[in-house]
Amino acid sequence: MIDLFINGKRLKSSSGETRNIIHPADGSIVEVAQEATNGDVEKAIKSAQLAFETGPWSKTTNAHRSSVLKRIAELLERDKASFAKAESKDTGKRFIEAEYDMDDVIKVFKYFAELISQQTNRKVNVDRENVESTIHYEPVGVVGLITPWNYPLLQASWKIAPALAAGCTFVIKPSELTPSTTSLLMDTLTEAGVPDGVHNLVLGSGAVAGSPLSSHPDIDMVSFTGGLITGKKIMAAASETVKKVALELGGKNPNIVFADADMDAAIDNALTAVFLHSGQVCSAGARLLVEKSIHDKFVNEVARRADLIRLGSPEDSFAETGALISAAHRDKVEKYVANAISEGAKLIAGGKRPTESHLQNGFYYRPTVLDNCNSKMQCVQDESFGPVLTVETFETEAEVIALANDTIYGLAGAVWTKDIDKAQRVANQLRHGTIWINDYHPYVPQAEWGGFKQSGFGRELGPMGLAEYQEAKHVWQNLKPGPSNWFDGKEQ
Ligand code: NAD
Repeated sequence: MIDLFINGKRLKSSSGETRNIIHPADGSIVEVAQEATNGDVEKAIKSAQLAFETGPWSKTTNAHRSSVLKRIAELLERDKASFAKAESKDTGKRFIEAEYDMDDVIKVFKYFAELISQQTNRKVNVDRENVESTIHYEPVGVVGLITPWNYPLLQASWKIAPALAAGCTFVIKPSELTPSTTSLLMDTLTEAGVPDGVHNLVLGSGAVAGSPLSSHPDIDMVSFTGGLITGKKIMAAASETVKKVALELGGKNPNIVFADADMDAAIDNALTAVFLHSGQVCSAGARLLVEKSIHDKFVNEVARRADLIRLGSPEDSFAETGALISAAHRDKVEKYVANAISEGAKLIAGGKRPTESHLQNGFYYRPTVLDNCNSKMQCVQDESFGPVLTVETFETEAEVIALANDTIYGLAGAVWTKDIDKAQRVANQLRHGTIWINDYHPYVPQAEWGGFKQSGFGRELGPMGLAEYQEAKHVWQNLKPGPSNWFDGKEQ
């Protein structure tokens, strides 16, 4: 049973309601989670608010918080296997992938521990004698954190580590489909020395358990990772109380392949770009833009290799990727593919559920390649968030830049070519938050992550990822005060 965690204590929902957590690989129940009511969320927000106001966390030194973050990283290293197992059960991803995610989570805590230990107040040169002017970096306050199901603990760590480093207190609501590892993390934080009230966990649906985090007057900032439609609702709700908002939303990410690219590398990475974690990756390279002269050779090979991808459960050591998160999500992906075909896309791989008997109870879907697409088609513009690649062709550099920017999103993209000047020229003109040249997917906690346009705003990771959780306060101190003589005080 996964309970709520409020002010250092495990609690049941005040309604007694619970929710079954389903294993995507076979549909079995892996956990049961409490379903918070509005009243439970209110309690969690009050706990975070009291902890922020009374301290000690919000008033501790950077050095202290850095040492606690380092301890969190050590404890996560110790408990890596149990976290990875829980993540695999909730998401259906391979155990080894969940372990890679844990390595990344640990790096994130280490990075923010280091970053906060180096931060000092900034002296400002005001060109005035006897004045000291300083910028202080203070915690934003109580933050509401809302996370998705694809990388549950990793997405949570991108928010929790900088929030703690800054001295904020928080209430987190993980996806109702994947709450296990975020819940485990609450105990890790306590063990590492985070005081009661600083970290609070509510569980349940977005509408009930999530929405107060964007509307409650005692929340100072809401940081959200998820879909565009939800992001818009959160931004609208937050405007009532003028909260700070950070949004990490979807993407429809162009993967551009020029004819002079290293073919083997580009083909292999085109598959990883889109089919990693069965396409349930915000930065998935789901939109292949391939130069016309190499289209047939390149795309036929991508389709051939897509058909060879082995699906399976986290326990299946032979599997290369797993199931989709839920039956409802697979239904959505199936509709997306049917719609793409009706728009004129040509199905050249996948487009169906697997036939193997051992995969019948899970929410599997074959890696799918749709050729003959163009940027007017809905399948090119909409995110499927599944294992589906759309293919378009181009003939010139200018054309491909225009195509790659012809999207409401702007999260990530890649350029494949041996011509480094061309690669840089294209990268400079793409309106996306991350551009890989002759690579796809790597990211590091030291570098900012986030979107242009409707992929959101604000940045996670890097120095800007810490700044999101801080207010800059200017303190001006006159060391030799005297009259300003603006008003002369004389009677007329
Ligand atoms: P989602 O928007 O359905 O849900 C995300 C979270 O928001 C969940 O915890 C959900 O319960 C909650 N929620 C739903 N309605 C809410 C409301 N009205 N108020 C407050 N919270 C609410 O998204 P999802 O299906 O969980 O995740 C998939 C989406 O996330 C995709 O669009 C993907 O691209 C995006 N994503 C983006 C990034 C990024 O870094 N930009 C990373 C991962 C996922």
